[in-house]
Amino acid sequence: MVRKVVIIGSGPAGYTAALYTARANLNPLMIDGGVGRGQELLGAGGQLMITTEVENYPGFEHGIQGPELMAQMRKQIQRFGTEIIEDLVTKVDLSQRPFKVWVNDDMIEARTLIISTGASAKWIGLPEENPVWEGGLGGAGISACATCDGFFFRGKEVAIVGGGDTAMEEAIYLTNHATKVTVIHRRDTLRASKIMQERAMKHPKIEFLWNTVVEKVHDPAAKRVEKLTLRNVVTNEQSELAVQGLFIAIGHKPNTDLFAGQLELDENGYIVTHHDVRTSAYGVYAAGDVQDHEYRQAISAAGSGCMAAIQAERFLETEGEEMANTCEW
Ligand code: NAP
Repeated sequence: MVRKVVIIGSGPAGYTAALYTARANLNPLMIDGGVGRGQELLGAGGQLMITTEVENYPGFEHGIQGPELMAQMRKQIQRFGTEIIEDLVTKVDLSQRPFKVWVNDDMIEARTLIISTGASAKWIGLPEENPVWEGGLGGAGISACATCDGFFFRGKEVAIVGGGDTAMEEAIYLTNHATKVTVIHRRDTLRASKIMQERAMKHPKIEFLWNTVVEKVHDPAAKRVEKLTLRNVVTNEQSELAVQGLFIAIGHKPNTDLFAGQLELDENGYIVTHHDVRTSAYGVYAAGDVQDHEYRQAISAAGSGCMAAIQAERFLETEGEEMANTCEW
């Protein structure tokens, strides 16, 4: 059977695409990426599964835990009959329609494909970055998203690691909440654009620590960030910095290895989309962080999942006409 819609990935973008296509009677099949937890791909639910409080997703007056929000979305799409395969896609062939998607040895054919495989924040690699329930401080003092979590650091001092545009942008954003923001950068020059550098450097609440790396975050046992052990990479000297929050802003990696050579990707590996969600392959749509390195919010991902679903539906409605003119099958 050729599926009308196959959705790869299960964050807010994928769940919303499933919701809309299921309610349009397109019987979507989702492959949720939920097992195998490779280094690149998060489990089902995406990055919100490693977040705690989400206060900026509309509709929840008192906020909601990230995993709970994803569980609700999953139940909602299942209520409308979305089929879910709990596995990773291992290979795709987008060279002709129907598109082919493999989950290990099983091949699935799809008339339209919605890609919502997300992006993964890069981490330094400290054990303290693990989620709180794995004994770390991820989601409870260590975060890779200032827009999401800056609010929790009102009146506190925080540090941010990185020297690119994201680190500068997030450092400036954090000054809306924190009393002091220390940028910790491993070199003595920034990678960020000149304008962002200047903005951050002249900000009275932002200080820079150069040639410095974080070696340890204290104190997972207390379940909160209290201070950092730092090392100057030039002198090898260690020091300590008292902060209540640590933000990691060393970049994201879009989960697009599967699509390299088959879809147009930008220089950082994000899927290039035109007219919001259309990819370089007709009938293949991309939604959420896999095509968005700018907003990276649950709500913007959900919005683009809705757009992808509507585009897929329109494609399927007009495919017959288009096939008569241009398509071989
Ligand atoms: P990025 O440009 O790759 O910068 C990553 C930064 O993290 C670099 O300074 C890098 O240090 C540092 N870093 C990497 N690995 C590290 C590690 N293990 N430990 C410590 N530091 C580490 O990433 P980005 O800032 O997320 O930006 C990605 C792209 O989006 C860029 O093209 C950027 O211009 C764009 N962007 C634009 C805007 C804007 O225009 N408003 C905002 C955000 C992002 P080194 O410098 O030593 O390599």
